[in-house]
Amino acid sequence: MRIDVVSIFPDYLAPLDLSLPGRARASGLLDLHVHDLRDWTRDRHRTVDDTPYGGGAGMVMKPEPWGEALDEVVSTGSTSDEGRSTSDEGRSTSDEGGSTLIVPTPSGVPLTQALARDLSTREHLVFACGRYEGIDQRVMDHFADRVEVLEVSLGDFVLNGGEVAALAIIEAVVRLLPGFMGNAASLDEESHEDGLLEYPVYTKPASWRGLDVPEILLSGDHGRIAAWRHDQRVRRTRERRPDLLPPGPISD
Ligand code: SAM
Repeated sequence: MRIDVVSIFPDYLAPLDLSLPGRARASGLLDLHVHDLRDWTRDRHRTVDDTPYGGGAGMVMKPEPWGEALDEVVSTGSTSDEGRSTSDEGRSTSDEGGSTLIVPTPSGVPLTQALARDLSTREHLVFACGRYEGIDQRVMDHFADRVEVLEVSLGDFVLNGGEVAALAIIEAVVRLLPGFMGNAASLDEESHEDGLLEYPVYTKPASWRGLDVPEILLSGDHGRIAAWRHDQRVRRTRERRPDLLPPGPISD
């Protein structure tokens, strides 16, 4: 997979050299490029923002540098008018082979495990990291005619910029790439994979500060352990995230 990130703070993306994404880069699974948006400005001050039309507080990111940056970084693949459609979530879709442009924004669709899985099947992701009051809307509208544009939110809160959101989305996506996790089975039972949260996990020692590991986990009875874990998943989800549970009884 290829990932390009455009930001006015490229150093913010340095953690991508560490840990799991760093390993994916080293192994050739991930081809990552970080770009400075200011490289596409044309004035002496390398200006990327201006006052909002209609008035109001803050500044808005100008369309020109974004347009030139994304013209270079985004690839339209084999798109054609016949292959294009627009889904009811406001996402425009294009034929295979092109880039997916991801614009982090608090007004986007929420990042979910299902979306991360979907993105992990794409060939090329491009992240446009906004700052200030965000990016001039015409940038997203313009590129939606050329590639799939996804405005994605990390959650119902406001960050200062899109870089942290891009880091989070990239990590969620890259760990799902085939061949990335040493033990792919460890992905299967994770929280949000099948709508339930994960069961509580324990390691040695069996007793720590007066707290014992649940007896059943020491029993060696894999059937009972699996049933206990499922029960814990349902209980935890009911307590912490009842909104995730489907209506009706939960199957074993
Ligand atoms: N004025 C914008 C609003 O109210 O929706 C918030 C702009 S925020 C200060 C600056 C940038 O941070 C956004 O353009 C976006 O890139 C990023 N950002 C902030 N919160 C985010 C979130 N919850 N999810 C994804 N990106 C976010």
